[in-house]
Amino acid sequence: MAKTGNLSINSTNMLPIIKKWLYSDHDIFVREQVANACDAITKLKKLEGVGEYRPETEPEYQIRVEVDPDQKTLKFIDNGIGMTEDEVVEYITQIAFSGATEFLEKYKGKTEGDQIIGHFGLGFYSAFMVADEVHIDTLSYLPDAKPVHWESDGEAEYSIEEGHKDTVGTEITLFLSDSCYEFCNEYRVRTILEKYCSFMPVPIFLEDVGEAAKKRAADEEKRLAEEDAKKAKEAEEKGEPAPEPHKMREPEPINDIHPLWTKLPKDCTDDEYREFYRKVFNDYKEPLFWIHLNMDYPFNLRGILYFPKINMEYDALEAQIRLYNNQVFIADNIKEVIPEFLMTLKGVIDCPDLPLNVSRSALQNDGTVKKISDYISRKVADKLTGMCKTDRENYEKYWDDINPFIKFGCIRDTKFADRLMDSMLFKDLDGKYLTLKEYAEKNAFVLEEEKKEGEEAEGAQEVLDQDGAPVEPEDDKTTVFYVTDEVQQAQYVAMFRKSGKDAVILKHSIDQPFISQLEQRNPKIRFARIDTEIAEDLKSGEEVSKEDADSLTATFRKHLENEKLDVRVEHMTDEEIAAVITLSEENRRMQDMMKMYGMNDDPGMFGGSETLVLNAGHPLVKFVLEHKRSSAVPVICRQLYDLAMLSHKPLSQEEMTAFVKRSNEIMLLLTK
Ligand code: ADP
Repeated sequence: MAKTGNLSINSTNMLPIIKKWLYSDHDIFVREQVANACDAITKLKKLEGVGEYRPETEPEYQIRVEVDPDQKTLKFIDNGIGMTEDEVVEYITQIAFSGATEFLEKYKGKTEGDQIIGHFGLGFYSAFMVADEVHIDTLSYLPDAKPVHWESDGEAEYSIEEGHKDTVGTEITLFLSDSCYEFCNEYRVRTILEKYCSFMPVPIFLEDVGEAAKKRAADEEKRLAEEDAKKAKEAEEKGEPAPEPHKMREPEPINDIHPLWTKLPKDCTDDEYREFYRKVFNDYKEPLFWIHLNMDYPFNLRGILYFPKINMEYDALEAQIRLYNNQVFIADNIKEVIPEFLMTLKGVIDCPDLPLNVSRSALQNDGTVKKISDYISRKVADKLTGMCKTDRENYEKYWDDINPFIKFGCIRDTKFADRLMDSMLFKDLDGKYLTLKEYAEKNAFVLEEEKKEGEEAEGAQEVLDQDGAPVEPEDDKTTVFYVTDEVQQAQYVAMFRKSGKDAVILKHSIDQPFISQLEQRNPKIRFARIDTEIAEDLKSGEEVSKEDADSLTATFRKHLENEKLDVRVEHMTDEEIAAVITLSEENRRMQDMMKMYGMNDDPGMFGGSETLVLNAGHPLVKFVLEHKRSSAVPVICRQLYDLAMLSHKPLSQEEMTAFVKRSNEIMLLLTK
């Protein structure tokens, strides 16, 4: 006679809540059942290890997941520890249900903004998310244990009686509800198992036990047998030895029970790391390098972080750091645990110490989580600085790929910035990679600390502002020129090269905020784009009379129909250059910012706009000055302006059209 009992006073209205629970994450019930099965096996193995369990034959510990599309059932079968009747009553009807109740109580009112990580703790009861009825058949490992059959519709009652299971372990059968038949589809279940269980420590086998699948398997076996027979006959006729008959394919577990991160770093080869990366992330591009995390104290953490070859400008950055708890997948993209800037890496992190059945906000304030996040960030910094010191060649090789990531990290995390500052590289015009210090040495200027010592020695007085903060005299700063686009700014680059001046290349959009940060950290340097001004050493020093300058300004303003145009006339060392455009660094940064926020970038709005700098020594400029009334002058003025502008920024559509038309007209003149 079956005994019946009440599940729990609170459980009556739990089912509807559980069914609705995070419908997008419906599939976690699979993980919960497989994880329980895995625990049951781990426990039994331990008992066997200490001699408390002596099986007659050595069991092959494994978990079987069986889908049956005919019965509309899904089974989880393990040969683990099993349960006695008392244990079923206690663990399933009391602990499991009270666990689920408590869980729901805690999170009932929570909004989506505060979702639960991993949804741990829902456990066994999560089966009712997809099933109308659940059966448990179990046999405890204990000597003389009787098999137990338990069933429940999850509403309020359960029944328990002696069952028929004759091997140690537990079999959980889910009778799927109509809307959840997808979970008896082998393919669907495989996908879920691969997501959550790929690295669980016990082999997991999946099988479709429906009639159709059985027939398919039988047909295949028949076909192979016929093929074997045919080949054997042919061989016999030719007098050759019979070929090996086909072997039926051995079923393979869906998981890897010893994922690479569980091994010691010294036991892993580069090929293994690459292979693991390919398999886990389906990325055919090789990772640049990786970090194997391995920590026992003060918390337990293992993992591998890969630096993928990415182009941040184009690649969609998906969440790629996966979090595991004892080889059970929990979630990816947990920014509370992994510093946000590391999200561009790919990797796996296994941390059994994480408090996972808590909400995100609780996780944010959790001390362990903070420590884990700091540890990961520090390990990444150590790897990079170490590489810069001892493997500079490779570090330089990877720099173009990894620098946006590192700069992003520096901006986001000042501690990371402190660690990385001396390992930041700058590529100069010769394509050499230099740290800021090396760059300063090469270009004979001093960075802050060194200069300070000198100042103290000279007893220099610090100037203080109203708030008492030291004021840096403007002219005390060293300007580091940079190029953002080597093609567009080619003319300026050529000017720099000719006069032996150096500049660094900073192409990425992250570079703008990054140099602002650098300037704050190093008050002695300022960054200026190569077209900001005509550096002093690019001028010949020869004076231009005010009269000539005024005259040229007036002429250009008139023909460019812009009364406000800023014009400066200089004698430049490079005689081939007629005109260039400059724009002050502050104004350009302002314009860039406006553009970034999609605002009108009318330069007038912020006072400053481009300046047209004319080279007084160039024949065309001389011509304009000396032949103001020539019919060629308007054309020369406009063409010079457009040419200068072209090296500074892209022309607008109208400007480009006018420029091309005018260029053609000028060429036509050559034919006359
Ligand atoms: P949790 O696993 O978090 O303890 P569950 O609701 O998942 O909560 O399970 C409750 C208890 O039921 C487990 O702690 C375990 O003792 C027992 N149990 C569940 N599934 C199995 C199984 N397959 N084999 C043996 N015991 C199990």
